Amino acid sequence: MQFLTILGSTGSIGTSTLDVVSRHPDRYRVVALTANKQVDLLYRQCVEFKPVYAVLLDEAAALQLSAMLAQAGLKTQVLCGLDALEGVCTLPEVDTVMAAIVGAAGLRPTLAAAHAGKKILLANKETLVMAGNVFMDAVRASGSALLPIDSEHNAIFQALPHDYRGDMESSGVSRILLTASGGPFRKTSFEDLQRVTPDEACAHPNWSMGRKISVDSASMMNKGLEVIEAHWLFNVAAENIQVVVHPQSVIHSLVQYIDGSVIAQLGNPDMRTPIAYGLAYPERIASGVASLDLFKVARLDFAEPDFERFPCLALAYDALKAAGTAPAVLNAANEVAVAAFLNREISFLSIARVIESVLELLPVENVTCLEDVLEADASARRTAIQQVMRFSL
Ligand code: NAD
Ligand code: MG
Repeated sequence: MQFLTILGSTGSIGTSTLDVVSRHPDRYRVVALTANKQVDLLYRQCVEFKPVYAVLLDEAAALQLSAMLAQAGLKTQVLCGLDALEGVCTLPEVDTVMAAIVGAAGLRPTLAAAHAGKKILLANKETLVMAGNVFMDAVRASGSALLPIDSEHNAIFQALPHDYRGDMESSGVSRILLTASGGPFRKTSFEDLQRVTPDEACAHPNWSMGRKISVDSASMMNKGLEVIEAHWLFNVAAENIQVVVHPQSVIHSLVQYIDGSVIAQLGNPDMRTPIAYGLAYPERIASGVASLDLFKVARLDFAEPDFERFPCLALAYDALKAAGTAPAVLNAANEVAVAAFLNREISFLSIARVIESVLELLPVENVTCLEDVLEADASARRTAIQQVMRFSL
């Protein structure tokens, strides 16, 4: 039996995780579920999964949930706040933490799980983007098992040798090929990109996801964040990570070897596959995902990314090369800019403008501890808010 904490259980990844868990009651038990403030969904999840703890970031929401659970006669204990989110990641009775909070808010609880040596199913890519060296050091020091849930990184993990220890050369790996769907605006002209709306940006052709990551996919910042994520997970330099636009989202990524072999992982675009893989690793379990019908897929297309129409991708490569606090600044500026775009304060193309000017304004500092990251994140947010005003509609 594996005992789980699911951070962000009410989100897209969280609900897919519970879907897989519900198919295997003999294997998994939920100890803690957490959310920001979605009381109704978290309540329904508590009724179904009967966790020991339910955590909400928001205090008023926690009081409401507590009253609802008491009325239903459920024993789930309701906690609130960031300390409680960290607390349910370090409980001795928890084996595995699914890190599926969106954005920088996921960093501290995920890092707490790493310090506590838990098995971590990592969906929250922002943890690695912001604090790659701090997080990977914590994982190594505690001996945490780290399983990537992001579909591309899960594919790469599956395509690398089983004993891969972060040394490309000795494993005969020449490059990582990171696939990208190209998002809803793959064929939209630069001119038309100026006018696209939040709803158009969130209408992803292949994947159904939360709004923040959907906008990131539309701007290709998601792929940029994933390049940085791949760097930290697999110890591969930026120049050895090639983004490949592949509109069908059937090949989830590939590893190229020095002998000419290229190993890929394929499947329907459904996050329950990487989630099931992470939960059961090294075994395989049913995930509820339909098997891939290659005759229906019929063709697979590939193209080079367009850095002109999607400047966010270039900004992310540059931030990875600049190192230090640059990726944390990139991430924070992106979160502020995406929120402003979703609020209709800035245009879609101004997302990249805001991020670029924040990166220009803030010097790159070294990162040696969590505080360095949190400071860079805070100052990037302050600067980004000013830049949003500068570019506001
Ligand atoms: P989502 O918006 O659907 O869900 C986010 C979850 O985090 C919710 O449960 C929400 O309550 C919680 N949350 C939000 N803000 C919080 C805060 N400040 N404190 C505590 N909890 C908070 O997001 P998602 O699409 O499920 O994505 C989650 C993470 O997984 C992101 O980092 C994303 O990049 C990554 N990811 C998602 C997908 C996908 O298909 N959705 C694929 C790959 C990676
Ligand atoms: Mg991905």
